[in-house]
Amino acid sequence: MPLRDGEVRIYVCGLTPSAQAHLGHARSFLFFDVLRRYLTHRGFKVTYVQNVTDIDDRSINAAKETGEDYHAIIDRYYAEFKASMAKLGILPYDHEPYATKYIEPIQAMIRELIAGGHAYVTKDGIYYRVATFAKYGRLANRNVEELESGARIDVDENKEDPLDFALWKFAKPGEPRWAFDPYGDGRPGWHIECSAMARALLDPRGEGFDVHGGGADLIFPHHENEIAQSEPLMARPPMANFWAHGGLLLFDNRKMAKSLGNFEPLSSLLERHDPQAIRWLFLQTGYRKVMNFTEDSIAAAGLGLARVKAGYRALAEAVPERSAQAALDRRMEAALDDDMNTAAAVAALYEFASRSDTDPERLAYWLGVLGVAPNDSWLDEPSAELPPDFVERLESALRASGTEAALAGATADAAIEHVLELRTQARRAKDWAASDRLRDALQRCGVDVKDSKDGTTWSVAAAG
Ligand SMILES: [Zn+2]
Repeated sequence: MPLRDGEVRIYVCGLTPSAQAHLGHARSFLFFDVLRRYLTHRGFKVTYVQNVTDIDDRSINAAKETGEDYHAIIDRYYAEFKASMAKLGILPYDHEPYATKYIEPIQAMIRELIAGGHAYVTKDGIYYRVATFAKYGRLANRNVEELESGARIDVDENKEDPLDFALWKFAKPGEPRWAFDPYGDGRPGWHIECSAMARALLDPRGEGFDVHGGGADLIFPHHENEIAQSEPLMARPPMANFWAHGGLLLFDNRKMAKSLGNFEPLSSLLERHDPQAIRWLFLQTGYRKVMNFTEDSIAAAGLGLARVKAGYRALAEAVPERSAQAALDRRMEAALDDDMNTAAAVAALYEFASRSDTDPERLAYWLGVLGVAPNDSWLDEPSAELPPDFVERLESALRASGTEAALAGATADAAIEHVLELRTQARRAKDWAASDRLRDALQRCGVDVKDSKDGTTWSVAAAG
């Protein structure tokens, strides 16, 4: 139940745009987008805050190396991120606070923590005194001893305790800084930014808000620290009634990281894949679970979505009986009321898309609640009746004739165009044998190629 009648207030930890975002970042933001849409369906007014950590060590260090202003770096990556979010159909946020625009509320909170004995001043900054907060570790379900032994040994004679963390970092020469009397110029620590912005925008009276979210990697220490900072200053804890954490996304069973050589920026991944297929893929796995992304899994999600599109098209063209609306509503609400079980919701949509008594408008409505609303292209017939494993077949036909082509994840049309382009290149190089091999591979997969003086065209071969 929400804390205020008819209203749900959500705070989600946003991006630190000091580098390019990848699909792992998008996963939890996509989940919170679906949560917002569903709560709105349920009749709540949703207030959604997602912050921007627009100052951090990485952007400051990058600025030192390149001579660029640190905030110009942040602005560039954040603009790229927002363009990707728009492609993915993420609803605009109600509030999008930048940490550097909240320096005053951040400092006010630090002063209160010092006054209450929860913080202390050292040579290099102001630290939170974890020993003063008895509930520390409860969110992560660990006690302080476990956390201390698990924490990276952070030898720092300034701190009273290894778990203590910085609320304010005094500025080193050349670093961005804000005045903070009487303590000293500097910048905020990451954790206090979220506590202060959540309080300013969602909970000025200190009575808590409804949902605090983020990726599972933020539970400790970030969210644990937010609780420790916020709750001692509140009239009525807890800080958040409900914590929701999106599971980690793996890529071919590994974390995505530049150091592992498997990093792909979100912006380029979105050029290769249909954003709706990405959503569909994520919806099939519970939001808390670790999920493994592969080129095969996104191709399969695209085919699954194609099945729903075909069902929707058939329903939109026929005069459906439209009697299944209540049953569809019941199934979707039962699924999503169950801790946002989007996998069960997707299963229901598959079923209702293939029935003849589903109202296509209601089907479209529910697809919209999941953020995958039909657009005009859904009513277009697919360009060719090629088998669902066409791209795979084409790839192996090419390999058999000595051509390696990475087609996984491509649509059939794109794969065919790609092979025709290879063939054009071969013909330009007068490599007629290669040109013939490519045409034969297409032919074996059911695609006829015709050359004329106007260029090359292709069509799906008649069955038989
Ligand atoms: Zn945060």
